[in-house]
Order: sequence, then structure tokens, then C-alpha cells
Amino acid sequence: MSNLPSHARVVIIGGGAVGASSLYHLAKAGWTDCVLLEKNELTAGSTWHAAGNVPTFSSSWSIMNMQRYSASLYRELGPLVDYPMNYHVTGSIRLGHSRERLQEFKRVVGMGRYQGMDLDILTPEEMRSRYPFLETHELTGALYDPYDGDIDPAQLTQALAKGARDMGAKIIRFCPVTAARRENDEWVITTPQGEIRCEYVVNAAGYYAREVGKMFGRDVPMMVMSHQYILFDEIPELAAWSKEAGRKLPLLRDVDSSYYLRQEKYGMNLGPYERNCRAHWTTPDDPMPEDFSFQLFPDDLERLEWYLNDAVERVPILGTAGLSRVINGPIPYAPDGNPLIGPMPGVPNAFEACVFTFGICQAGGAGKVLAEWVTEGQTEWDMWSCDPRRYTDYTDQDYCIAKGKEIYGHEYAMHFPKHYWPAGRNRKLSPIHDRIAALGAQFKPYNGWERAMWYAKPDDDISDTATQTWGREGPWAKRIEEECLAVRDAAGILDLPGFSRFRLKGEGAREWLSGLITGRVPKPGRIGLAYFADDKGRIVTEMSVMAIEEDFFFLITAATAQWHDFGWLQKHRSADVAFTLDDVTVNFACQILTGPKSRAILAEVSDADLSMGWLTHQTAEIAGRYCQIIRVSFAGELGWEIHTKVEDTAAIFDAVWEAGQKHGLKPFGMEALDSLRIEKGYRAWKGDLSTDYTVLQGGLERFVDWSKPSFKGKAALEREKQQGVTKRFVTLTVDAGECDAPYMSTLWSDGQVVGETTSGNWGYRVGKSIALGMLRADLAVPGQEIEVEIFGDRFKARVEPDQPLWDPSNERPKA
Ligand SMILES: Cc1cc2nc3c(=O)[nH]c(=O)nc-3n(C[C@H](O)[C@H](O)[C@H](O)COP(=O)(O)OP(=O)(O)OC[C@H]3O[C@@H](n4cnc5c(N)ncnc54)[C@H](O)[C@@H]3O)c2cc1C
Repeated sequence: MSNLPSHARVVIIGGGAVGASSLYHLAKAGWTDCVLLEKNELTAGSTWHAAGNVPTFSSSWSIMNMQRYSASLYRELGPLVDYPMNYHVTGSIRLGHSRERLQEFKRVVGMGRYQGMDLDILTPEEMRSRYPFLETHELTGALYDPYDGDIDPAQLTQALAKGARDMGAKIIRFCPVTAARRENDEWVITTPQGEIRCEYVVNAAGYYAREVGKMFGRDVPMMVMSHQYILFDEIPELAAWSKEAGRKLPLLRDVDSSYYLRQEKYGMNLGPYERNCRAHWTTPDDPMPEDFSFQLFPDDLERLEWYLNDAVERVPILGTAGLSRVINGPIPYAPDGNPLIGPMPGVPNAFEACVFTFGICQAGGAGKVLAEWVTEGQTEWDMWSCDPRRYTDYTDQDYCIAKGKEIYGHEYAMHFPKHYWPAGRNRKLSPIHDRIAALGAQFKPYNGWERAMWYAKPDDDISDTATQTWGREGPWAKRIEEECLAVRDAAGILDLPGFSRFRLKGEGAREWLSGLITGRVPKPGRIGLAYFADDKGRIVTEMSVMAIEEDFFFLITAATAQWHDFGWLQKHRSADVAFTLDDVTVNFACQILTGPKSRAILAEVSDADLSMGWLTHQTAEIAGRYCQIIRVSFAGELGWEIHTKVEDTAAIFDAVWEAGQKHGLKPFGMEALDSLRIEKGYRAWKGDLSTDYTVLQGGLERFVDWSKPSFKGKAALEREKQQGVTKRFVTLTVDAGECDAPYMSTLWSDGQVVGETTSGNWGYRVGKSIALGMLRADLAVPGQEIEVEIFGDRFKARVEPDQPLWDPSNERPKA
């Protein structure tokens, strides 16, 4: 007889480390009526053969959060659930071969310190004292992570499973899920043991997540790589040292050579991420098998040769060891290498916790995040970097394969701000792509749409090599400055394909929208910024609300926010409303025309009433095409956004471009726009605006209408207002060196950490390095001097008055 229950609150599909941790955390949150279905034995997917490294290092704030949480959970898990585990905290040494790599390390040391971790930088001598077998040629320094270690992945999974079971959750093994359907607001999950109904479902199927996704009509953006490590026989010298020292060697990561080397008993384990990597199950002659439980790919030693030779030069005792075994297993990759944790896009009551490339070290944190998504609909930390909705409709298999291979081959690469990765490009092109390319545009994709970042002149160095810097200077700097100054003194035009746009229309639309945003819904003919808060008053998103009629709006938001924001709106719309809500992003295009000459340029090509004021919009005609022109400027100058049908983009661009020539019109890119907006203190999505902060902390109270009887987040914001905010959004000017402050740079005062930056850039109109950030409330007073830590060095900074640095009274856009 089947032991499958007929009903559960949550069904998790997949019993690897991540599925088990999700079950454990759901049960811990009190949701014990949860069932995990595993098609084979627990750990049958990637988990059983994982090397089990548990680093805390990440240059991403949210991923570091997850890994830090995992490491601390693993320390206490064994005794907590009474399941002893092999978990060795050995520390790790991450080797750096360049100045830029050390800068990266110093930045991570700063982030780690902020998260309560004591990471450190080592000199070559210090490395050798911790790792006596190390050769230090070509090294500039290293990062020491005392929390790094390794765990037995199977024991970890079993411990989490035991903990979950002990709390009342169920695990059914040898129970493959074969189908899913929606019935009466429930999921019905089919297995050979029968059907189970549930409120919520979680896809935790690892490298089979795409197959499971299909059961829900969801195309999971992922691919599968082959990943290997080599185990070596005992090395007598290492055994002798280890016994005498009474410890294992710290794990070594040579990130610039792209491998890790770990002591395994008295031998070694070498795991490279090879440039000449291999994808699997991507071609008709290599189909994905029905089942791959507890299986491996054949060894492929040729691919590893270069790495092996390099490792032997770094740690010569390795050269004396015999090779004992190669493990070559499937490892799933999302296009950016981060996992998918969160709502399954477009599918009700369904979640994803899958496609982990570091699923052992992330399982603990991922389970916590997943459980929060399911039980609360929101997470403690902003988890956009792992949110499945960061990908939309452009991630077909070709794209996923190209990106997966690129990321795998550059697993440890530094992600420099002016380096735009080349794989998977040109997914979505603006109709004027070729025109702006001919003007020198250097492109980067936003939600698949290629946008100009800056415009190069013919002799500019646009090589990859030139971009390998964290610094402000480079071939782009002069050009970005020229673009900013053209916008300041004459006019600039920026093509913005893919601006996300939702049409909201019908009776009750205004009232519904008013209940969702903190502020006032604009009157017809006007446009306004709107902030959406969650129940804790935290910033979910920002949209521009363009009111066409009393109950007819266009909601415009960031390109990358498309599925996230649409999902938020849909989630809060009940079935019985009379209005419609549609995603019409693909039908429209937008070009920004801004600068003091923009009125004169528009006057030559359009019939619009250009005296209409700031925050108004009107229908106009340019080059015989209808468009909606909106009197706003994210650049903080006189200007209009020209919204058109996609097919009219070229005609309108050509007309404006031609008319603009005698007025000094120049094309400008996203890099210039970022510099221009930061001078105005305008917030950027998922940097300055994230669920890590409340609307009040974010300095957005002027967008809160307290007189509204209710709106989402109001109660929490009222409470916060009464108690007073603990930290506050500030604009800082920084006496920076060669780099401006990146996201999450630490703010210091009197030797104490007092806040963090949320974005930073150089302002070419004001000639200063600017950072936006969150500062302890008592220090958030104009004139207050503090310090900002940028790549390990501290620089003086001043808190500026709560107004834009450029044109504080906003006279220029309102001119
Ligand atoms: C060689 C190698 C070394 C690695 N080393 C490390 C490391 O050192 N550190 C680290 O953090 N990560 C490492 N990884 C990655 C790590 O193994 C994975 O990220 C992790 O195991 C993923 O766990 P998971 O639970 O998401 O998926 P999996 O372990 O793959 O679990 C998914 C489960 O879903 C089940 N399933 C699939 N389809 C169905 C269905 N239809 N119905 C029911 N069940 C289903 C599968 O049987 C499987 O048990 C390594 C990977 C490889 C290949």
C-alpha cells in the first residue's frame, strides 16, 4: 500500500541537500504538514558526489548572507538534530595574482566584516606559515577565510531530513513526480504511488529542474555542465605534517588559475573549473536520460591536464601523489551561475529552489530563504540575485548553454563594472540598434535588450583587456564625461528599448492601485513616481504611473523588473475585479531626449504643446507617427521621454536626430545616465531601492500619503514613523581615489561600522565622487564627516543636505 498522503500543505519535489533544507526550514517555521517526494534515494542527484566545500566567500552581498548562514547552521546542526556529521572547518586561502584581485579580496573582507565575519588578507609569508607546502611565485596576496570548510553532503542531507522528520514533516522516497495539474486552487501532483494535493509546490529537482518545470508550463532557464574533481592517494609528507600539526591544511583556491585544492584525509582533491569545459545533454546525440540517479559521466582527464600541472607547480608534493579516482558529475547552471530561489514566474503557489552550482554551501541559507518565500511571501534579505524572475522570455536553450559555459569557464572571474560579458548577446534588438552601433555604441543587455552603455570614438580602446579594472578611468571615462556635458549644455538622446510597461484599465483600477502604493495616484494627464511597499513597509519596487484617464494607466518600470513587478501586481489582484492588467512591454519603445536644447529640438519636429509643465504627458506627432511625450528626465535636465510604438522608433529617432544636429544633440548611454541620476539623488532599482530598506529609511516619505485610509505597508510604516527610523538614506560626497564606492561599501565613523553604500559613481556635472547609502540615523545630518571603505581603503566623505547635488531646486527640468 502506498504511504503517500492524499494532501499536504507543501510538496517539495527533489530530495537533494536543497530540498531537504527547504523541508527542514518549513518545518522549523511551524509548517510541518509538508511532504518531500524523491524519485530515488535522498541525495541521488548532484548531492551524492559533491566535494562538499563550504566557503563563505562571495562578492555578492545576498549570496554571502546565504553562505554565512549555512556555515553557522552546519556548525550546530549535528547536535541539534542528533545526527553526527563530518564537518571540518579548515579555513581557506584564496590566492591572488594581480592588484585587481587583491582589491576584490579587500572588498569582500569589508563585506564579511559587516556580516560579522573576520576575513583577512595574507602576505606570501603569512600564506606559507598557514600552508607550508605552498610555492608563492606570481602571488600578490591572498584572502584568508577562517570559516571555510568541507562537509559530507550526504550526511548533511540526512541530518536536515532527520531534523525535518522529527518535527513532523514527511519524506517519501522512490516516488517520482510525473505530472502536475491545477484543480480548485490546489496543485494535484501525480506519482506512480498515486496523487497528492497541496496548496504550494516547490521544484527542488536539481539538474532535473527543467523537466519538472515543464509539468507546470515553466521553462526553467538552465543547462547542465560536466564538473570534475580528482582524488589523489595519500602523500606521506602531508600525512606526517598533518599528524604533527594536528590539523588539515586550509583549502587552497587558486582563483586566477581556476581550481581548488583540498586535503582529503592524507591525500588531496583537485577541482578545476576549466575554460575548455563541456556541457552535457544539450544535443540530440547526447539526450538527457530518464534517470541518472547515483551515476557519473566518464572521466575526462585531458581537460584537467593544464590545471593539474599548474597545481603541481603551486604545491609540489602533489606531483608525488598517485591519482586514485576521478568524479565527473552533472552540475546545473543558470545563465548567471546563481541559483533560482523564489516564486515560479507566472505560476500560482509554485516556487523554485533549484539549479544550484554551489548547492552544498548554499543549501542551509537557501532553505531558509525558500521557507520565507512560501510561508510569508517575502524574505528577510533582499534576494533579487537569486530570484527566478530576473530572467524572462529570452532564455532559450541556446542562450542558457552559451551563458552556462561562459560562467563555468570563468567561475572565479572578477566582474568588472565596465566589462560586458560577450556570450548570449543580441537576444533583443531595438529597431535603431544598427544606427546607434554605427555611432559607436558599446552595448550591454538589460532583460535581454541591448542598450548603449557609452559611445566610443574610432580610436578608443574597446578591448576586453582595457575593461579589467575597478577604477573609474579607462577609455570610457572621457566619453562618458562628454556625454554628460552634452546633456548639461545642449541635449542628449538615449534609446531605452524594453522599458517594462503594464496597461491597467477599467472600473476600480484607480482605487486598487491606490491601495497598493504608498502615495497618491496621479490625475489624468499627469505622471508620478509610485512606491510599492510590503507588509513590513519595505521597498518592493518603484514604478512611474502615467494616468491616461481616471481609470486607465500605464505603469512603467525597469526593464529587468518586468516579471517581478508584473508578478507583484497580479498577486494582489483578486479574480472578481472589473479592470484588466496586461503586460504590453513588447509593443512600445522609449527614447529619452534631455538637455536645455531639447525643447527647441522637439519644437522643430512635433506639434506638441511644449509649454506643458513638469510631470505632464500628452499625445503628439513626430515624423507623422503618434507618440506619447512625457515631461520627465531621469538625468535631471529639461527633457521628455518619447514613448512610441516599437515600429515607429526609427522614424522618430531619425527626425529628432536630424533636427538636433544644429543644436548639438549627442547620443548618450546608460553609464552617463547613471552618473547624471546619482547627482540628482534618484534611486536605482535593486541598489538603492530594495527590500533591505523600508520606504522611510529610503528617504521616500514625500511619496507617502498618510491621509489615505489604507495602503499596503501602512501599519508598519506608521509604527516605524512613531518609533523613528534607525538608519536613513543619505547622499555623500567622497574624497575618493581611483574608484568610486561600489554597492555595499562600508561606512565608518569613530572606528565603528555605521552604514553602507547602495550605489556610487562620479558626477561629471558637479565634479565629485558621489555615493548614496544608508547611515545610522543620528549621523545622517548635513555636514557630518564619515569614512567610506572602498576596496579596503578608507576615504573621507560628507553627508550632503537632503536635496539633489546638481540643481538642488530642480529649476532645470522645470524650465
Ligand atoms: C563534481 C561536483 C562537485 C561539487 N562540489 C561542490 C562543493 O564542493 N560545494 C558545493 O556547494 N557544491 C558542489 N557541487 C554542486 C552541488 O553538488 C549541487 O549544487 C547540489 O548538490 C545541488 O543540490 P540540489 O538539492 O539542488 O540538487 P540534487 O542533489 O541534484 O537533488 C535533486 C533531487 O531531485 C530528484 N528529482 C529529480 N526529478 C524528480 C522528480 N520528477 N520527482 C522526484 N524527485 C526528482 C533527484 O533524484 C535528486 O535527488 C558539486 C557538483 C559536482 C558535480
